[in-house]
Amino acid sequence: MKVLVTGTAGFIGAALALRLLERGDEVIGVDNLNDYYDVNLKKARLERLTPHPGFTDVRADIADREAMEAVFARHRPQRVVNLAAQAGVRYSLENPHAYVDTNLVGFLNILEGCRHFGVEHLVYASSSSVYGANTRLPFTVHDNVDHPVSLYAASKKANELMAHTYSALYGLPTAGLRFFTVYGPWGRPDMALFLFTRNILEGRPIDVFNYGHHKRDFTFIDDIVEGVLRTLDQVAEPDPAWSGERPDAATSFAPYRLYNIGNHRPVELLHYIQVLEDCLGRKAEKNLLPLQPGDVPDTFADVQDLMDDVGYAPATPVEEGVERFVRWYRDFYGV
Ligand code: NAD
Repeated sequence: MKVLVTGTAGFIGAALALRLLERGDEVIGVDNLNDYYDVNLKKARLERLTPHPGFTDVRADIADREAMEAVFARHRPQRVVNLAAQAGVRYSLENPHAYVDTNLVGFLNILEGCRHFGVEHLVYASSSSVYGANTRLPFTVHDNVDHPVSLYAASKKANELMAHTYSALYGLPTAGLRFFTVYGPWGRPDMALFLFTRNILEGRPIDVFNYGHHKRDFTFIDDIVEGVLRTLDQVAEPDPAWSGERPDAATSFAPYRLYNIGNHRPVELLHYIQVLEDCLGRKAEKNLLPLQPGDVPDTFADVQDLMDDVGYAPATPVEEGVERFVRWYRDFYGV
C-alpha cells in the first residue's frame, strides 16, 4: 500500500511511518520541518525512516497549494494520514495565524488532493481539545463540541466538519481520530512529560497547572499507532442509503467516521509526576499554578466505538509508558 503521511518528522507521524515501513508499506512522508520545537529532534526521527527503501522524504508545506498538488500528482498515494498540524493549545493564543494556515488551509489542500486523485481513505488527526469545558465524563463523539475554548480546538473541530463535507459531497471515506494526550519515546519537547523530565534532571522547578489536580487520559504512543493503523486499514463504507447525487438528503450516511483514541484510564497530573519522580529517582520542585486559559479541566475518552469497529485495545499503563519514555530520554540525550 502507498500511504502519504503528513507530519512524518513529528512525534506521532514518525512512529506511524516506521510501523508502516516495517510491515512493508510504501510511505511518502511530507513535513516542512518547522521550528515550533527542536528541529534536530525532528531530523533524528526522520533518520530512523530514511534507511527503509519504501520511504520517500518530501520537504513541503501542506498549506502550499501548488506544492501539495504536485505531491499528489507525482506520488498518487492510495491512502493518506494527515498528522501535520500546528499543535499546542497554549501557543494558539500567541500565534493564531499558524493554526489557520496549517490546520485549515493545509487540511483543505489535503482534502482536495484526496478528492482529485482518488484516494481510498483519509485518516486525520483531531484532538480531545474539541471537548472544551465539557465536564460530562467520559467524553463520547456524540457530545456537543460546539464551544471550543482555544483556536487550536476550533481548528480541529473545523477539520471534522470539512471532512464530513468531502465525505458527503464526493464520497471520500474519512476517519477522524480525536487523540488524547499522547506520550512516549521520541515525544514532543513542548509537552508536559518532556518538560518535566528535562527540568527535574537539570534541577529546575516544574510548572504544574491547575495545582496538579486535573486528570488526563494519557495515551501511550504504541497504542496510538496501533489504533491509527487499524483505522487506516479499514475503509469506511457508505451506508447504502447514502447517495453522492443527493448529498443533502442523507449526509450522515456518507463514508464518514469519527472516533476518540485514548487510554480510557485518566490519571491525575500529580500522580503522573509521582510516577516520573519514581522513574528518575529524583523529586520535582513544583510551582503550583492555576489552570491556564484555553486548557480543559479533565479528559477521559470513551473508546468503545473504536474497540468495536477496529479492535482497538489500549494496553499500556502510565507506569510502564513513563518508564519507557525516561529510558529513551536518558539514552537519546546521554543523561
Ligand atoms: P508534532 O508537532 O510532533 O508533529 C507535527 C509535524 O507536522 C511536525 O514535524 C511539523 O514539522 C509538521 N508540520 C507542521 N506544520 C506543517 C505544515 N504546514 N506543512 C508540513 N508539515 C508541517 O505533533 P504530534 O504530537 O506528532 O501530533 C500529530 C497530530 O496529532 C497533530 O495534528 C496534532 O494536532 C494531533 N494531536 C496530537 C496530540 C498529542 O498528544 N501529541 C493530541 C491531540 C492531537
